[in-house]
Amino acid sequence: MSAVETRTMRLVLLGPPGAGKGTQAKVLEERFGVRQISTGDILRANVAQGTALGAQAKAFMESGKLVTDDIIIAMMENELAGKDSFLLDGFPRTVAQAQALGTLLERLHLPLTGVLLFDADRDTLFKRLTGRWTNARTGRSYHAEFNPPKVAGIDDVDGGPLVQRPDDTAEVVAKRLDTYERETAPLIAYYGSHATFSRIDALAPIATVSAAVNRAVAQSGTVLP
Ligand code: ADP
Ligand code: AMP
Repeated sequence: MSAVETRTMRLVLLGPPGAGKGTQAKVLEERFGVRQISTGDILRANVAQGTALGAQAKAFMESGKLVTDDIIIAMMENELAGKDSFLLDGFPRTVAQAQALGTLLERLHLPLTGVLLFDADRDTLFKRLTGRWTNARTGRSYHAEFNPPKVAGIDDVDGGPLVQRPDDTAEVVAKRLDTYERETAPLIAYYGSHATFSRIDALAPIATVSAAVNRAVAQSGTVLP
C-alpha cells in the first residue's frame, strides 16, 4: 500500500450499517496508509474459514443481531495489540464495547484521535444495503446504482468477484437497522462530548463525504515525516 501521506490516527467510524463507513475507510487507507479494522470483515473471514470464532458468530450475524460483547472484546484486544494507528469500522457497537476499548487504549497510552459519526436516514440505508455488492476477500463494496463497478460483478481494484452479502436481504437489513437503533445509537451520546467527535453528512455523494472526512481528520493526528 503506497499512501499519499502517512499519518498516525486512531479513529472510530461510527454509524449505522450502510452509512458508508467501509467505503470511506478504504479511501483513508489509501490516502494515509492507516489500516482499517472491520469487525464484520474479521467475523465473515472466520465464518468462511470455519473457525471456532466463526461458529460462535454465524447465527447472530445471519439474524441481524450483535455477536456477544465478550467474544468481540477478546477478538479486538488481539487485533489492536501492537498497533498505534487504526480505523475502527463496526466497533465499538455497544456501550460495554466502548468502555472496554477506552480501558484498553488508556492502558496503552493511545487515546482516540477522532470519532466520526456517519449520519443517514433509514430509507437511504435500506437502499444502500440491499443494492450493495461486496468483494468478500477485501471487504470493498460497490452499489448497483450509486457506485457501480466498471464491469458488473467484478471489483475494479483487484478483479475479484462481487457478491451480495447474505445479511443484505431486506428482511435481515430491517433487523440490523433495529439492532443499531437499540444497541449502537447510544454511543452517539457516549462519544458526543469527546473532543474530536465530528458528525458527517453521509447522505452526500461519496467524494463529498470523503472531503468532509478529510476535514475532520485534519483537525487531529500527527503527520509523520
Ligand atoms: P457501511 O460500511 O457503513 O456498512 P458501506 O461503505 O459498505 O457501508 O456502504 C454501503 C453501500 O452504500 C455500498 O453499496 C456503497 O457502495 C454505498 N455507498 C457508500 N457511500 C455512499 C454515498 N456517499 N452515496 C451513495 N452510496 C454510497
Ligand atoms: P458489519 O459488516 O459491520 O455490517 O457487521 C456484520 C455483522 O457482524 C453484524 O450484523 C453483527 O452480527 C456482527 N458484528 C460486527 N461487528 C460487531 C460488533 N462490534 N459487535 C457485535 N457484533 C458485530
